[in-house]
Amino acid sequence: MSIVSERVVRVLRAGLAEEIERQIEEDNARGPEPEARVLVSSALTVLELVLRTHGESCRCEGACGTEHPGRMCREDGTPKEPLIAAPYPLPCTEHETVAASVEALRPWCAPCWRKAKKRTTELAAELRRQQLDEAQTALPMDLFGGGR
Ligand SMILES: [Zn+2]
Ligand SMILES: [Zn+2]
Repeated sequence: MSIVSERVVRVLRAGLAEEIERQIEEDNARGPEPEARVLVSSALTVLELVLRTHGESCRCEGACGTEHPGRMCREDGTPKEPLIAAPYPLPCTEHETVAASVEALRPWCAPCWRKAKKRTTELAAELRRQQLDEAQTALPMDLFGGGR
């Protein structure tokens, strides 16, 4: 290698080091990358999002029909029965449950959720029965021109 080309290589190397340094400085001036955080949160499941917002324990305050000591269940999920994200209190119909917004969701432990689901199912059945009763008592009135 001639002296001339050796000098050229050295100049090029110095230039490269400067360029890398400049890019690092520019990057640091831009601050921490916001795009990294966006990536993480978009990879969260609905349950993970709910647990992050409300804490990783059951938020039931008695909607399951159990009086929890300290007014809140605070049960952790187990590997066999992990916590569930569902609206609180639990709506009466499956349709309302799945149509709930993410903000309406709370962490439920499996036992509370099962009890609450049973209660809402019974409540929905009771409501249907009442509506049917009302419809039946209202029917003769309508037949005779109604009392209204
Ligand atoms: Zn619970
Ligand atoms: Zn409960």
